[in-house]
Amino acid sequence: MANYSGPVCRFCRREGAKLYLKGERCYTPKCAIERRAFAPGMHGQARKRKTSDYGIQLRAKQKARRIYGLLEKQFRNYFNTASNEPGVTGVNLLRHLELRLDNVVYRLGLGASRKQARQLVTHRHFDVNGKLVNVPSYQVKPGDVVKVRPSNGVFDVALEASKVRPVPAWLSFNTDDKSAKILARPERHEMEPGVEEQLIVEFYSR
Ligand code: SF4
Repeated sequence: MANYSGPVCRFCRREGAKLYLKGERCYTPKCAIERRAFAPGMHGQARKRKTSDYGIQLRAKQKARRIYGLLEKQFRNYFNTASNEPGVTGVNLLRHLELRLDNVVYRLGLGASRKQARQLVTHRHFDVNGKLVNVPSYQVKPGDVVKVRPSNGVFDVALEASKVRPVPAWLSFNTDDKSAKILARPERHEMEPGVEEQLIVEFYSR
């Protein structure tokens, strides 16, 4: 599946919030939001017009999509799946995003950013239940065991860089052998706090 590889700090500036897309840099004064907290582009500092309901919903959707690093088609597919499942569509959608293997790697602190976590997965660094998995979108489920395959020190560097992020309660992580168990499906309060899922549902339900 295709992947966006252009500059990303402009996404944070567009949303007016840190999306933590660059790993370590996001926690330093070099962060673009710290230095230029206005929208990117020629008219970024122009007076803001009132945003329509559509605009608010669109921004909520774009923000979530960019946090998880997905293209529109992939994101839309998750929404379609979530809306056909029982329960609250917005929470179902977020849960699918959280249970992606690349997100789990990021949550464990093994990748400094979701982008780096994605790359580590495609570079064949992980087993799931004893079998190599190199698909970032792989959906893990409770009971699954994700383990780092024997490799170089890249994970020590990443672990150091991501100490600021605690491992969520739905994952249990053994730092000695770098293996993790999925204990449960995440609840809403354990997922990305900055996402307004109801606005995303409204956007796709127009
Ligand atoms: Fe966003 Fe990180 Fe860039 Fe700051 S450094 S603007 S948080 S991606």
